[in-house]
Amino acid sequence: MAQQNFLAEVMAASGQPINLCYQCRKCTLGCPMAEEFDFPPNMVMRMVQLGMKDELLRSKAIWMCVSCETCGTRCPNGIKTAPVMDVLREACLREGVTPADPVTVDFHRSFTDSIRKFGRVHEATMLLSYKLKTKNFTGDLDVGLKLFLRGKIPLLPKKAKNLNKIKDIFKKSDL
Ligand code: SF4
Ligand code: SF4
Repeated sequence: MAQQNFLAEVMAASGQPINLCYQCRKCTLGCPMAEEFDFPPNMVMRMVQLGMKDELLRSKAIWMCVSCETCGTRCPNGIKTAPVMDVLREACLREGVTPADPVTVDFHRSFTDSIRKFGRVHEATMLLSYKLKTKNFTGDLDVGLKLFLRGKIPLLPKKAKNLNKIKDIFKKSDL
């Protein structure tokens, strides 16, 4: 993504009319994760408009969005931040930029690998994969044990009936 074409390319890839953003901040005021962002959603839009690619690809904000779509329902211009964040995350990984929050990236990879394999998340193998990636073997152990004892973390995975269709989606999106 060339710096000068950044706005046009992010708009095309995300399908969002980012050029229409006039900084009313309705997205940020409704965002449940804004306090965790280094740049709030409205500022992310302005930075895309200004072509601040390097700053965005290195930002924590792109990894903190949980794709809840609250921003999109509040925006008077119909701009959804979540697809924009997806485009920026993909660009970060594709261009070899070190993510600001590598643990979140490890979680994303473990989560999507599980869906790719089983067609749905299998918590036990997903958590094992995540622990191996982060080398944090004791974090959240108490919560995990409670969930396991209540039968919320089955040991054996169940494959989704439409697994082939899900694998096709992964193939098409080159994930
Ligand atoms: S989709 Fe992301 S940016 Fe928008 S409100 Fe939800 S967490 Fe915030
Ligand atoms: S709500 Fe829409 S127009 Fe307002 S700041 Fe956010 S993205 Fe821009």
